[in-house]
Amino acid sequence: MGCEFCGKNVDKVYICSSCGLVFCKDCGYPEKKLCRECEAELSEEREI
Ligand SMILES: [Zn+2]
Ligand SMILES: [Zn+2]
Repeated sequence: MGCEFCGKNVDKVYICSSCGLVFCKDCGYPEKKLCRECEAELSEEREI
């Protein structure tokens, strides 16, 4: 199973709880279960 953002085949991948895409630790935030795209969106919303 590979990361859907960088395309790398990594040992450990995570599933974004917002969009459902698979990401590696370099492409998102495993502790938040969010990919970088969704994390960026959510943090923007919080600032408004
Ligand atoms: Zn990745
Ligand atoms: Zn996402």
